[in-house]
Amino acid sequence: MFPGCDRRCVVAESIRHNRVKATHRVDASFHRRLDGGTCGDVRALPGFAFANGSNDRGAKSTMAREVANHRRAAHAPETLRKIQLLRAHRGTKRVNGYQLTFRLLQRNLPAPTVTASGFRDLVHPQANRFLTARELARLQTFPDSWVFTGHRLDSFSTKRAVPLPQVAQIGNAVPPLLALVLAKSLRSQLFCDNSDIVDAQLARRIPRILKRLRTVYSRDRLGNKRNGIDELVFIMLSRRTQDKQYRDGYRALKKAFPTWASMLKARRVDVEKALMPLGFARQRTDHLLAALTHITNDFGSLSLGRLRKWNTSKALNYLLSLKGVNEKTAKCVLMYAFDREVFPVDTHALRICKRLGLLNAEASEFRASRPLEAIVPPPLRADFHIALIQHGRSICRPGVPKCGECVIRSLCEYDRKLSQEQKTSEP
Ligand code: SF4
Repeated sequence: MFPGCDRRCVVAESIRHNRVKATHRVDASFHRRLDGGTCGDVRALPGFAFANGSNDRGAKSTMAREVANHRRAAHAPETLRKIQLLRAHRGTKRVNGYQLTFRLLQRNLPAPTVTASGFRDLVHPQANRFLTARELARLQTFPDSWVFTGHRLDSFSTKRAVPLPQVAQIGNAVPPLLALVLAKSLRSQLFCDNSDIVDAQLARRIPRILKRLRTVYSRDRLGNKRNGIDELVFIMLSRRTQDKQYRDGYRALKKAFPTWASMLKARRVDVEKALMPLGFARQRTDHLLAALTHITNDFGSLSLGRLRKWNTSKALNYLLSLKGVNEKTAKCVLMYAFDREVFPVDTHALRICKRLGLLNAEASEFRASRPLEAIVPPPLRADFHIALIQHGRSICRPGVPKCGECVIRSLCEYDRKLSQEQKTSEP
């Protein structure tokens, strides 16, 4: 479900499954929307009055409500007979057998996409009529404030102008909610999107937070490597793996293959065997061998030394081009092995930044790095990253954090909100 969308619609599901074709669920909340958000009860639908004064079956005047573009069209007796026929067959199929292309909308079933030519096919789930322009517009996620003018001329050539009725305007349109979601997704991929930052004011606390964390945690490299290739392998092994497990895995790999070049020459099955205790052995082997081979081909040897002369952005892009290397992995290599002022976001950093109120609850590990870099001062990034990992492992753990033992408690929004909730719930 997307922000601003109060129903489970197939637009959302289409995005989730990378299908762009948008259809919509006709469920209870569909009716709530049809009723202008005043009632969630399906039975309220017949009380929906039309702009031309009529209504669907005995509407109570108190429930009647006029909205723009909600005008009931008169249906020919033959059309009404066909609609009734369709309803008698429960609209289980597109009734071509009756020389019809009508479709009866049903609760809890996706409605077909509203198209400019097929809008006439959609039959109301309860009333014996086609949907009005407003109902179609709601299926397309248009807000009621969006008014469609009578006829608009569309010119497809210099010689002719084609009139476009309201319903065709709706059917031709990209659903606004779909457009919004696509635009947000594109924006976050194309630009540094800081919309995940909850409050830039809270960001001013970062130096104080770090200072306090430094009083309890030492400056530790947490086992990270100085050599670029070592660090790349180390971090690649750390993905989706517990701390101890990937450290042991790295040691076992080093023992089996004293040099990474020897690992490249080894049989694939031997590499897989060495990675077996970590899980995802086949995928890890694929990624490791592909990345190391790529580097060897690019630089003539198995070394990332060339990156030292490159600027951070170029080095980051190069690392991201390697198979199996994501932003966190690339930034860890740059930070630990090349002393670059970047801010990798791992699961601990993400969780604690959310609890501190720096990030909103929906921010993901994949999107949070750039917004956080915008608020963490460059000289503090490495220290802040390491301190958050240490804090996340010992105190601010997943599940229930040990706020009672936390040195940054007074700077934390999570604890403040929790205390507030407890106060309001007290009798
Ligand atoms: S107060 Fe609690 S939630 Fe906040 S950082 Fe400390 S342990 Fe984590």
